[in-house]
Amino acid sequence: MGFSSLDINDDLLKAVAEQGYDKPTPIQEKAIPAILNGQDVMAGAQTGTGKTAAFALPLLHKLSLKKSEKHVIKTLVLTPTRELAQQVFKSFETYAQFTPLKSAIAYGGVSIKMQVKAIKEGVDILVATPGRLFDHIVNGTVDLSQVEYLVFDEADRMLDMGFIDEINRILQRLPPKRQTLLFSATFDEAIFKLSKTLLNQPKLIEV
Ligand code: AMP
Repeated sequence: MGFSSLDINDDLLKAVAEQGYDKPTPIQEKAIPAILNGQDVMAGAQTGTGKTAAFALPLLHKLSLKKSEKHVIKTLVLTPTRELAQQVFKSFETYAQFTPLKSAIAYGGVSIKMQVKAIKEGVDILVATPGRLFDHIVNGTVDLSQVEYLVFDEADRMLDMGFIDEINRILQRLPPKRQTLLFSATFDEAIFKLSKTLLNQPKLIEV
């Protein structure tokens, strides 16, 4: 099965072809149709499985359908670390290169000024670590009221790093009606507890 049978638009297929991918990985094959369908997803996937494209491609497809002229944050991706935030942001930029969609990144340990500027210019996708995103919320430099798609990437690491309070405070700022995707390498009690409060009849995917 090739990417073209997955119902993602030509701009995205072109970017995928440019990356030299010829067929979807197992996680992509399972997650992309479910996400396009509007389902919540809970997926067990390690780094290296192609999990980033498994959520980025269908979300970019859905964002492309909206045709709104204004760039407002409709997709929020939470990651545990700055390194992962950078990788995910880069992937969104690569896959969205032939679309008008824009991404920004927010992580701690660096000046908040440039991040504020990028967000202010208008973006569709924000990739953030929980601590720095919470700073933006407190400072009033990010508006999450239009978020429709929420992704937790490496959710187990986010909990291990003690981000649960920030996560709960961020969740309070998000519209309750949204599609939520949770990716985690491991599943324990804490992840199941989080998933119960977050996900609505999720499709479970294991690869
Ligand atoms: P990830 O698991 O998202 O960190 O992706 C791991 C690596 O696999 C990245 O370097 C991607 O560029 C690459 N990749 C993602 N999807 C595919 C695919 N369908 N075919 C070949 N490589 C891919």
